[in-house]
Amino acid sequence: MPVVRFHGGCHQIGMSCIEIDTKKSRILLDCGMDPNKNTVPNIDPKDIDAVLVSHAHLDHCGAIPCFNFKKIYCTTPSADLMYILWKDVSKLSKIYGEKEIKRALDVIETVNYREKKKITEDITMEMYDAGHILGSSSIYLDIDGKKVLYTGDINERETRTLKPADTDIEEIDTLIIESTYGSPLDIKPARKTLERQLIEEISSTIEKKGKVIIPVFAVGRAQEIMCVIYHYMNSGALEEVPVYVDGSIIHTTGVYLSYSHWLNPKMKRILECGQNPFGYVKKADSSVFNEDPCIIISTSGMLQGGPVLQYLKLLKYPTNKIILTGYQAEDTLGRALEEGAKVIKPFKNEIPVRGEVVKIEFSAHGDYNSLIRYLKKIPTPNKVFVVHGEKYQSLSLAMTIWKSLKVPTFAPPVGSVLPLF
Ligand SMILES: [Zn+2]
Ligand SMILES: [Zn+2]
Repeated sequence: MPVVRFHGGCHQIGMSCIEIDTKKSRILLDCGMDPNKNTVPNIDPKDIDAVLVSHAHLDHCGAIPCFNFKKIYCTTPSADLMYILWKDVSKLSKIYGEKEIKRALDVIETVNYREKKKITEDITMEMYDAGHILGSSSIYLDIDGKKVLYTGDINERETRTLKPADTDIEEIDTLIIESTYGSPLDIKPARKTLERQLIEEISSTIEKKGKVIIPVFAVGRAQEIMCVIYHYMNSGALEEVPVYVDGSIIHTTGVYLSYSHWLNPKMKRILECGQNPFGYVKKADSSVFNEDPCIIISTSGMLQGGPVLQYLKLLKYPTNKIILTGYQAEDTLGRALEEGAKVIKPFKNEIPVRGEVVKIEFSAHGDYNSLIRYLKKIPTPNKVFVVHGEKYQSLSLAMTIWKSLKVPTFAPPVGSVLPLF
């Protein structure tokens, strides 16, 4: 009987890694790292036939180069994005280097959405658009006729850059679902409301001739924020000031532009008209620090390393502002600022925080209502595993599913080994 082993991403966000063992094969669904602690899952890659990667975020793919895998499957854009992220990791944390990255790149096989692929003797795989970042996928497995859906990170709502998650699925025996916003308390404002808040916050700082720092993840968040600013500047609703970007955003945005047919059709049309909603930004240089108001978009999103750290000294001036655009994990500098730290120390010297700190959560995940709508759109499974969420969120969603669908539902802790069907 096939079993599922949970190596990571259980009662936590980070280090997603799920192993499926059947009579004839062993595969991994994702092999992520904890980007804040630089930890990787404890696995033995020896008998693993293949790793299937849902998307190019470090909590899903960051640990791959640490292991000598035989085969890696992902979508074409994911492969390009992973390369950029892995290079970033090799520079920042040194848990692997060029050699290990090359070894991983050599065994990648890319697929398109809805392309059926036999990956082992008894497993066939298909990837569906998950609506989360460019190339993100939910992974659908056929194991000797039984069906498994691993959602990966999903967004059931359309965004400026992406289509909503694909829910056109025939049957599911076992569902493995994310639970980032799994609690009924996790209800987020509509995208339009968030966009307006962002523009108001930027405008009020520009009026005071201040500078706005926006820390972002290089993939997904960065491109969406750039699109929003472009749109509002174009319509005249936001004053035109220089917008600078720093970090691997420059490279990841290049990948977004080269896969326009994977994006939201509206975005594709904009690009086909010869407009480039990312083209107005400049690479950050020393002029960022001069007197004029400007916007700085830079990695990393939780202020754990990355070029954004050098701009934090701007926070000693009360006219400047930092806008946190996503979830800030515990023990990160981002969380400290969010919780009102009066002094920060990104490098040797302390920086007094006199500028304003604002949080507007542009999540690439669906909120609680969106998760519930997603569950209604897909066929009812016979068994559910809830992963990828903090403990309260995972247990909460498991309870909701168990009550509404009346099927066995588990929110397993790391290390659990359970029957897959
Ligand atoms: Zn993700
Ligand atoms: Zn994730």
